[in-house]
Amino acid sequence: MVDLVAITGAGISKASGIPTFEEMGDLREKLSRDYFRNNPEKFYEILLSMKKNIDRAVPNAAHMALAEYRVPVITMNIDGLHTKAGSQKVLEVHGNLDYVECFRCKTKHSYHEVEKSIYCDKCKSVLEPNVVLYGDNIRHFYEAIELAASHKQVLVVGTSFFTSTVNIFVDSARKAGVKIHVINKDSENEIPRFLRELV
Ligand SMILES: [Zn+2]
Repeated sequence: MVDLVAITGAGISKASGIPTFEEMGDLREKLSRDYFRNNPEKFYEILLSMKKNIDRAVPNAAHMALAEYRVPVITMNIDGLHTKAGSQKVLEVHGNLDYVECFRCKTKHSYHEVEKSIYCDKCKSVLEPNVVLYGDNIRHFYEAIELAASHKQVLVVGTSFFTSTVNIFVDSARKAGVKIHVINKDSENEIPRFLRELV
């Protein structure tokens, strides 16, 4: 096992056919807490079409290599591809599309149910996606900081490095003396090569 943590963003899933936020245009602002509150029906239309695309996607060589080398992952992605690839330790700081949850009665519901109604069949509240929206706090924040700082090296993959969350993780790791590597292009070839050379 290599003494390494990966921090991954949308770029790692590009070769799996999942568009990055830059490519999705104004979708970004629609994945916000405000938009969800004001237009829940429309919001779910968008989320369900994203989920259809994600459900069809398969992990690429980059996800597979990180799983194979048992590299723990902190990911900004909600596509679940690290888990699909077989990675055991994955911190999904923006959540995932595995289920939705009733905000009021706390019951979990499947997306299959959401396709029929976005309201809880028990208490009629609007169902909440298990996804961090713009305007929300991210998940596993301190755990991610600790994880990144507790290894000798951090590999940052496919992120626009300037997103504040990634920056915070990388900065705190660097301050803890961790060596930082960045792969932003061609990650499906570069990551397997990087890992082969590391071990
Ligand atoms: Zn409910």
